[in-house]
Order: sequence, then C-alpha cells, then structure tokens
Amino acid sequence: MSELTVLYQEVRTCQKCILSEGRTNAVPGEGPEDAEIMFIGEGPGFHEDRQGRPFVGAAGKYLEELLAKIDLTREEVYITNVVKCRPPGNRDPEAEEIEACRPYLDRQIELIRPRLIVTLGRFSMQRYFPGASISRIHGQPKRVGNVIYYPMFHPAAALHQPRWRSLVEEDILKIPELIAKLDEIEEAEPDIPQAEQLSLF
Ligand code: SF4
Repeated sequence: MSELTVLYQEVRTCQKCILSEGRTNAVPGEGPEDAEIMFIGEGPGFHEDRQGRPFVGAAGKYLEELLAKIDLTREEVYITNVVKCRPPGNRDPEAEEIEACRPYLDRQIELIRPRLIVTLGRFSMQRYFPGASISRIHGQPKRVGNVIYYPMFHPAAALHQPRWRSLVEEDILKIPELIAKLDEIEEAEPDIPQAEQLSLF
C-alpha cells in the first residue's frame, strides 16, 4: 500500500476538527501519485461529500472543460482541497479547520512533489500568497525553488460570476507555457535552491 493510500485512510477516519461531524464522506483527493500538476480548491461540496471525490459537481465539470482547453484530463492531474470534509451548507472553511487539515495537504504535496501547484480560490491562494487579493494576483505565477505556484479563481466562482469566467479561461491557457518555462529554467539551472524565491515573467 502506498503512503498516499495510507494517508487517504487517515483522512477518511479523521476527527481533528468539527467538520468531521457533518460529513458523509471525507474527500482526500485523487490523481496520479506522480502528478506534475496539482490543483488545490477550497473544500468538498454536496456532491463531493456524497461521493467522497473532489470536484464532481458543476464546478468539477467546469474544471474538466478548462483542462480540456489545454489537452489535459482530470485523470492526468492531482485534485484536492484545503479542507477534506464539507463545511455545513457550503460555508467558508474556518481558519482553525484549515489549520487542522493542513498536515494532510502538506503530506500530499511532499509525496506527490508536483512541479506546478494551481490554487483555486482564495483559501488555497492564502497558503502561498498570504494577504493577497485574488482579483489582483490571479494568473500571476511565482516560483519558489523548482515549484511554480499559480493562483486562479475557483471554477465555482467563475460559474456564478460571468465576468470571472473569461479570466479563468485566460489563466488556464497559460499553464502549458508555465510548464515549458520551468523545463527551460531547470535545464539552465539544474540546482535551483529550494529556499530562494524568484518571480517569473
Ligand atoms: S476537515 Fe480535515 S482536519 Fe477536519 S475532520 Fe476533515 S480531514 Fe480531519
């Protein structure tokens, strides 16, 4: 059994925060264990809670459409959330719930080691761009060591706000370019220091 599978089992029985009380299923995340790209959303919604899978409702369908624009399928990327259990009534996750769940996401990132982390919405954005406003920084990547962090609007927000839809669609189209840029940089500087923060573009 892989370490990631063990982690999934821990998540499914976790009671570290109050969100465990109202869930039907915890939703650890899914995708290849060696995915190059990881998408991090906010938390499971109604359908995700029922099925135990991330992004399976309307926002998930839209995410699949966005991925198709760059010739990717959901099976090729890793998809998870900052909290693994559904907040009641789809309310925002509380800071203490995000904190309680943080070790699971940290561990997923350590095990999968994605090259590109796409944050979907402001809660996952806060992890890498603290204090930033998503409407200002969406679509602006930053590189830390050999990982690129890329903030985008949440697909659910774009579904409800037509003016954000075109922004989300523009932002997704930059992903292949980001990966190509990372290949280029790694070839030029194979020993990129992990701690050094550099901006890209
Ligand atoms: S949200 Fe995270 S920390 Fe809270 S019960 Fe679910 S898995 Fe555990």
